[in-house]
Amino acid sequence: MQHSIVSHTRTQQAIALEDKYGAHNYHPLPVVLDRGQGVYVWDVEGKRYYDFLSAYSAVNQGHCHPRLVKAMQEQAAEITLTSRAFYNSKLGSYAEYVCRTFGYEKMLPMNTGAEAVETAIKMARRWGYKKKGIARDQAKIIVCEGNFHGRTITIISASTDPDSNTDFGPYTPGFVTIPYNDIPALEKALEDPTVCAFLVEPIQGEAGVFVPDEDYLGTAIKLCKAKNVLFMADEVQTGIARTGKLLASCHSHGCDCTSGTCRNGEYSHKPDVVILGKAVSGGMYPVSLVLANDAVMEVFTPGSHGSTFGGNPMAARLAMEALEIVKDEKLAENAERLGRLFRAEMQKLVEEFPYVKLVRGKGLLNAVIIEPRKAADGSPKTAWELCLLLRDNGLLAKPTHGDIIRFAPPLVITEEQLMECCRIIALSVRQFA
Ligand SMILES: *Cc1c(COP(=O)(O)O)cnc(C)c1O
Repeated sequence: MQHSIVSHTRTQQAIALEDKYGAHNYHPLPVVLDRGQGVYVWDVEGKRYYDFLSAYSAVNQGHCHPRLVKAMQEQAAEITLTSRAFYNSKLGSYAEYVCRTFGYEKMLPMNTGAEAVETAIKMARRWGYKKKGIARDQAKIIVCEGNFHGRTITIISASTDPDSNTDFGPYTPGFVTIPYNDIPALEKALEDPTVCAFLVEPIQGEAGVFVPDEDYLGTAIKLCKAKNVLFMADEVQTGIARTGKLLASCHSHGCDCTSGTCRNGEYSHKPDVVILGKAVSGGMYPVSLVLANDAVMEVFTPGSHGSTFGGNPMAARLAMEALEIVKDEKLAENAERLGRLFRAEMQKLVEEFPYVKLVRGKGLLNAVIIEPRKAADGSPKTAWELCLLLRDNGLLAKPTHGDIIRFAPPLVITEEQLMECCRIIALSVRQFA
């Protein structure tokens, strides 16, 4: 390869290479990161930023947590991958650990969030045939408008977002779509006896942090139970303390896991299936899993599902350490407390600036809605332009849908750091005028 002799900054060079050789399936904010620690990331020029995306909530424990770095280094020198053709010394204790932590009888380990969602879909369909008695190939799964569950062909077949699914057909059949946060629509859809499951995010993250009504999940769980339909919570983004409880679905039954111990298992009205990913490994490595009780999970038999990397000793070791960090550092409590503070600070901006429309969220998963405008010279002023100002002022966040900015810092953020971030956001909003 011939290198250009034109002198580039390291930023321009890295961006040019990604643009030239990488598929354009993302539209990144122009900043090139190469180091992270806790709530901070540094770009290749040495400038420091607060990370307010946290890799879509995968680094709740903060970047390069020293305990995770140590666990990864140690495990890398022992053994990393055995495949499930053999037992390994870490998976059993990891499986026990997550089952006890979240209150389920069984877990199934995968790698990415989308794989865990696929696993849940397969499990629900098979459960529908073997346990509920639905006629073969007739099982349906209810999903919500605006959902985000991943990127596979089957998952985008359940998506209503044209950016995600246009020109990727033919689609996988078997999904019924209803509006989010709409109990009557769910009741109606549940009348169909061929429905095996309701797959839903406790808060719609990618759609722009849509928080449903307080009683939505609890009511939905009860309705599903009454109709012998599996309630499957996709907690890939909302789980692992992000919303102020270990699982966001715990908000629906008053489980006390803000204070550290999740009692999800003690509640009869809890999700039948929980799907986790992202922060399960604290951002070190793709680790996902599906949780359910025996009566559901037992539909999987040898050969019916699997993954070469799923349940590997590195993943098991990292996930246990990452979940221990969440407990030891009281990250759920921190998310709950600082989330309230953050929304209160953002509310001040909503009141002061007419183009800051709204703040919403739970714990440290929040979004601010910006009214898109035009500058005096006619150029657009959208959430993207505000994110560029935030970047220049030392804070990284990503816009979605043109007018929404999600704010989701690592949960290890301190009150002092959070207040500094609120000042950075306020300054940027002022400059946006
Ligand atoms: C990110 C996400 C997924 C997909 O996870 P990947 O690891 O990107 O495959 C699924 N569901 C939700 C709610 C997510 O936020």
